[in-house]
Amino acid sequence: PERHDRAAQIPAAHPPFDIHAIRRDFPILQEHVNGHSLVWLDNAATTQKPQAVIDRLTYFYTHENSNIHRAAHELAARATDAYEESRNKVRQFLNAASTDEIIFLRGTTEAINLVAQSWGRQHISAGDEIIITWLEHHANIVPWQMLCNETGARLRVVPVDEDGQVLLEEYQKLLNSHTRLVAFSQVSNALGTITPARQMVEMAHRVGARVLVDGAQSVSHMRVDVQQLDCDWFVFSGHKVFGPTGIGVLYGKTELLNDTQPWQGGGNMIQDVTFEKTAYHGAPARFEAGTGNIADAVGLGAAIDYVERIGLENISRYEHELMTYATGCLKSIAGLRLIGTAPDKAGVLSFTLKDFSTEEVGTALNREGIAVRAGHHCAQPILRRFGVESTVRPSLAFYNTYTDIDRLAAAIDRIRGKKN
Ligand code: PLP
Repeated sequence: PERHDRAAQIPAAHPPFDIHAIRRDFPILQEHVNGHSLVWLDNAATTQKPQAVIDRLTYFYTHENSNIHRAAHELAARATDAYEESRNKVRQFLNAASTDEIIFLRGTTEAINLVAQSWGRQHISAGDEIIITWLEHHANIVPWQMLCNETGARLRVVPVDEDGQVLLEEYQKLLNSHTRLVAFSQVSNALGTITPARQMVEMAHRVGARVLVDGAQSVSHMRVDVQQLDCDWFVFSGHKVFGPTGIGVLYGKTELLNDTQPWQGGGNMIQDVTFEKTAYHGAPARFEAGTGNIADAVGLGAAIDYVERIGLENISRYEHELMTYATGCLKSIAGLRLIGTAPDKAGVLSFTLKDFSTEEVGTALNREGIAVRAGHHCAQPILRRFGVESTVRPSLAFYNTYTDIDRLAAAIDRIRGKKN
């Protein structure tokens, strides 16, 4: 009944999959918090893990655990095969041309820092320009700022409109012969805006700049094709796509990776070492010095299998309908200001509530078992662009339901009721 009161105009979608069966795949969704069944709406921070991923990690440590590549025995072969199979799953997931283009790292943050500190130090100097957008997560601001401080390059920022979408005409004005690099997110973690990534890549390439796309918030919501995007690098974190923490991916075009100096030196990344000189491997080994996060890379492969079984297209369609419903519900609440109103959005709703701090809202929701993030979401500049320091951010995944949204909206109503 709550649904009909709130968003009668918005038809409830029929998920193109069995949502109840999917929810049973995620054991943590059965948890109770403060006496209520858990509503997990903090997916932009991290996603929950299906049993298939949890089981894959257990299987690895039970039957396959070994270091990779180095030892010539059965378990080393199993671990290496599992790790490399997972690399191939990531390749297919992104539609990269070759597994040599897929580097396993700790996550998005590490991947961006790698590009800034290896490619960046090699190619950026005083007078060069690096372009980012106002939407960026701190992970896609600070590494470039550090590089600019080191080299004397200039950081330029593409503004956004009142809806929180990048202004392409302003972006065009910033592009020039000094632009060496453009780095932007495909989906904003603070507002949910989907940026026109393909077009932005093409515009940057016209002036000869390289492009890094931050896919931390996009890969769980939409089909990504790096060849179609034509970006030079693409980065994402496993934990935001139903995989383990501590594992992430840097995709880069082969010749670009092989032209770039390694970032860290150590085992695995070398062809030959003498005290005088070291010859490095090509990518991906070139950028995977030391023992990596083998088990979690394998777990990420299982997460990708899981997502692919449901189908990114099905996920996008269902989430789009759920987003429309949630937007309608939130908009109908008096005193609630939705921030980020672009027509193209994925996964994220951001709001403030009149007369309440975002912290108060977050705490009150938690009392009802509803998990959202309240804060600056590691994206202070974009929130300040809209005159706020903090928002409440419910964020969706395909296992969320209309009931989750109804419980959120009803809980916000109860919070409001306390002062009205
Ligand atoms: N970029 C975006 C758009 C993000 O949403 C996040 C995480 O919130 C990151 C980068 C950083 O990801 P990680 O903390 O997994 O390295």
